[in-house]
Amino acid sequence: MVEQKLRDVLRTTAYHLKKLESMGLKRVSDLLYYFPRTYEDRSHMTSINGMDVNAINVIRGRVYGIEKKKSKQGVPFVSACLEDEQGEECTLLWFRQVHIFAQLQDNDTIIVSGRAKYERGRFTMMNPSFEKAEKTQQTHTGRIIPIYPESEKLTSDWIRTKIQGVLYFTKYIEDHLPRGLIEQKGLMDLATALKEIHFPSSQRALELAKERLAFDELLLLQCVSLMRKLQFKQEGAQDAKAMTLRPELIREFLELLPFELTDAQKIVLYEALRDMEKHEPMLRLLQGDVGSGKTVVATALAYHTIKQGHQAALMVPTEVLARQHHSSIAPLLMKQNIRIELLTGSVAEKKKQEVYLGLKQGTIDGVIGTHALIQEQVGFSSLGLVVIDEQHRFGVEQRRILASHGYPHVLQMTATPIPRTLTMTMYGDQDVSVISEMPKGRKPIITKVIHPRDRAKMYQFLRSYIEQGRQAYVICPLVEESDTLEVKSATEEYHLLAQQVFPDLRVALLHGKLSNQEKQQVMKDFKDHKYDLLVATSVIEVGIDVPNASIIVIEGAERFGLSQLHQFRGRVGRGEHQSFCLLATTSQDQARSTKLRAMEKTTDGFVLSQIDLDLRGPGEVFGIRQSGIPDLKIANIADTRLVKEARDAALALLEKDPTLATWPKLLAKVQERSKELSGTQV
Ligand code: ADP
Ligand code: MG
Repeated sequence: MVEQKLRDVLRTTAYHLKKLESMGLKRVSDLLYYFPRTYEDRSHMTSINGMDVNAINVIRGRVYGIEKKKSKQGVPFVSACLEDEQGEECTLLWFRQVHIFAQLQDNDTIIVSGRAKYERGRFTMMNPSFEKAEKTQQTHTGRIIPIYPESEKLTSDWIRTKIQGVLYFTKYIEDHLPRGLIEQKGLMDLATALKEIHFPSSQRALELAKERLAFDELLLLQCVSLMRKLQFKQEGAQDAKAMTLRPELIREFLELLPFELTDAQKIVLYEALRDMEKHEPMLRLLQGDVGSGKTVVATALAYHTIKQGHQAALMVPTEVLARQHHSSIAPLLMKQNIRIELLTGSVAEKKKQEVYLGLKQGTIDGVIGTHALIQEQVGFSSLGLVVIDEQHRFGVEQRRILASHGYPHVLQMTATPIPRTLTMTMYGDQDVSVISEMPKGRKPIITKVIHPRDRAKMYQFLRSYIEQGRQAYVICPLVEESDTLEVKSATEEYHLLAQQVFPDLRVALLHGKLSNQEKQQVMKDFKDHKYDLLVATSVIEVGIDVPNASIIVIEGAERFGLSQLHQFRGRVGRGEHQSFCLLATTSQDQARSTKLRAMEKTTDGFVLSQIDLDLRGPGEVFGIRQSGIPDLKIANIADTRLVKEARDAALALLEKDPTLATWPKLLAKVQERSKELSGTQV
């Protein structure tokens, strides 16, 4: 029933049907799930004497004196008089809505609702909603009113009327949630929730309806991701390379390092090693702040894998990073006769062919490169582990490719410290490990917001540290509109610093329009201390490791989100020197901003990411499209309690029946949602 086409059900024009269709509303169910944007409580009627110019007023009364007029500017309008039961009067005005003239007749009793102004001893209501009072059920007035997102030509009032017209279909709705779950959670049943979400009988009922529908949405999401995980693990069970944990191998590797692992590193290393003992592929997310030592953990796992006769691959987002990792990891493992090669776009063709062959024959043990590295045409003799560094997107497609490589274990790493509940939604199909402490001996980075008038002082400060032998980064403002503009502004900044501010120092420039080779050269020279100062666009965000660089200046700091600023800050504080992060601003207001002050107060990435979420919302912080966060209609993915409840409920159901076949209606919903989400990583 609810799958009936709107065109067969609604009384409206082809024009309006087309409009609805363009909004994705084709069936009755689409309309029932087209939720209000907000609500107005018009349930409390007042009298004209009691009107409040700061609120929505609902008045019942008799209209008369209905006239069609034109303003001096030629704008048509309808005016009328309204008299309430106490005999008080006010004026009603509707601009440009001349059709109202035909809808009203003298002495009609109506209920109007809207804002009022008070002028020359009389109240006037501008463009109020109204309806005839004899109707038993009010649609637009006299109750809590749903306000819908308006689109061109389809007003909220129009949509409201149509939705009310299909509301009786809710009686054909079958609840897809298992009875037991509804009872256990005390949830509102689906049909009632769909009615109440549109036309709430009370605030309390509205809350329950929202809760029920949000829970539904999150539960389906959790079921989709948990089932995907189960499925991948099951399919991979034949092929996965179970590796017995061999502590002596780990010890061997640790002896290669000049430091001890932190406790947090040891714990996550152990968690991953335990996963890899199983006859199913690991799917684990490793979260940890920049510099917390994730790469070292990943390298230990690679070592353990390779020593058991398999191969390992490390995928990173950029060429620069690939080279950097290769140059630090390859020599280390070389000491144990392990051969790690680099594979990126800029590797010479001949060398590439050699690497392909070596990987196929198993003469190369490990490979580091950009994501091109696990494309299907690259073959391995026995791929045991894939480590993915900083890649938000890891979806169905990537999994398919991994399957073709015989289901290696997968470790995904991210330095984005997202709060736990968000992890459950964004990476719901992975197990999660967190490195929660930094290596010992790191001095906390000192962060300062720089007031525009203190710019000269800031340059002086930079100079004094550079004279002590340190190096510094200067990050240029983000120019979202265009890469070219961003490069231009970085180039200007570079000229300013190199020619006017620090003519005697060695200044370099790094931006996205340089060729890979140029970028690598600049990075290498900076690392070798051939430069004192590196001016860069946000390209350096993804990570470079120069322990002697102890100051980072971020120009136009207010343009970046907190998570991004925090990532930048992680570029320094990698060596033994006290490090600084200077947030340069261009106005007083910016210098006082809550966001930038938060950077001064804390270095804890999780705290900052929570503030960032609160300030900007998840869509802005993670970029819905890039991050693969699913678009949610009614639930809030930052709603810790509800996300957790949905997660637990999904786990409990899947534990009882991993196929969900026991609950066919739920299963059908999950499958439908899974199809919609096929492009995301959920
Ligand atoms: P991440 O990948 O999390 O950004 P890395 O593994 O690259 O961190 O480590 C950052 C730096 O800290 C590297 O120079 C690394 O050698 C060093 N490091 C890692 N773990 C430790 C540790 N336990 N003690 C001291 N230094 C460490
Ligand atoms: Mg790293």
